[in-house]
Amino acid sequence: MTTTGTAVFFDGLTSRRQDVHVALEHDLLILRPDGSRLDVWPYDALRELSAPDGMLRLSREGGPPLARLEIRDAALAGDVRRLSPRLGASLVAESGVTRKVVFWSLFAVVSLTIFGFFGIPQIAAAVTPLLPWSVDQRMGRAADVQLRAMLPTGPGDFECGAGSQERPGREALDRLSERLSDAAGLPVPVRIIAVRSEMVNALALPGGPIYLMDGLLQESISGDEIAGVLAHEIGHVAHRDGTRHALAAGGTSLVLGFVIGDFVGGAAAIAIAQAASEASYSREAERDADMYAVGLMKSLGADAKAVGTLLTRLTARDREDGKAAEDKEKKDQAEKPEAKDEGGSIMDWLSSHPQTAERQSAIDKAAGEGPTTPIMDAADYLALRRVCGPSR
Ligand SMILES: [Zn+2]
Repeated sequence: MTTTGTAVFFDGLTSRRQDVHVALEHDLLILRPDGSRLDVWPYDALRELSAPDGMLRLSREGGPPLARLEIRDAALAGDVRRLSPRLGASLVAESGVTRKVVFWSLFAVVSLTIFGFFGIPQIAAAVTPLLPWSVDQRMGRAADVQLRAMLPTGPGDFECGAGSQERPGREALDRLSERLSDAAGLPVPVRIIAVRSEMVNALALPGGPIYLMDGLLQESISGDEIAGVLAHEIGHVAHRDGTRHALAAGGTSLVLGFVIGDFVGGAAAIAIAQAASEASYSREAERDADMYAVGLMKSLGADAKAVGTLLTRLTARDREDGKAAEDKEKKDQAEKPEAKDEGGSIMDWLSSHPQTAERQSAIDKAAGEGPTTPIMDAADYLALRRVCGPSR
């Protein structure tokens, strides 16, 4: 019988990913590589989360909501399944949840009534700051599960960084995430996920998960550009834009679902995933996220203007691509009158971030002059670019 094996552990408090040993004894023990204990997870508290094929992803009931253990060793995973009686039970994210549920159910019923009388966006804006951050985290977790299934990604896992060649990139990304997350000091940990997708995009889910698509990494020319985009997305998390947006889009069913329920899948989760992936925030929300990014980058001594430069460069390129596509379409239609539209631009990050020139000048003005230090050295940046495998 297998009683030990290796796994990847996230403590749910920092964005750090740790390679650990797992020992199956009286409880499941999570051990540091040196053999000392990191955590003890009782078998009856283990819950299975959605995961790619070949991975057992575990959460611990009553533990930090984002803490998880990822096991790829099939024999070890089989033994964990055999020993854990409640693996498939639904997860109650917070301990001492009953009292909270009563309070927040009442809150939800009241907000349900209010939603009926007033405009949804206004109420969503008023209600969001009153919600505990655990609601954002629940929303983000549900959206994460849905988006992993919905987003068109490349071959292999959704999340880059597991392969041995991708490891230096993952370590560079973890270092960057940690610096940004520490500087931001939000009540929720920010976790940055490199996604194996050609989309030139980044997006923030409520409560902290941030997707950085490989397509955007490949279009960048410096670590400061990537850090700037991530800082902008952290701004959306800090300002709870995704949460507000989801509440406005999904209305009361979401409030009820996310406040009371546990949701593994379900219509509410799909709704929030869609709201998050469309992510068309208001101009004000974008400006505020830009200003947040400038502040965060300046606090790290990095180049706060870089995000504006990237934005401008990609918009110009997108326009050229758009014009080329338009010309091609006209030509195709002239030759083949029934030719169909092949779909829109994949530049979601840009198409949802309009007014580029205005934004860049505001970013430049707020960034000011003065020397800056690159957020990462050239070696780390090159490694980061290869976090999803060799550049295409
Ligand atoms: Zn934005």
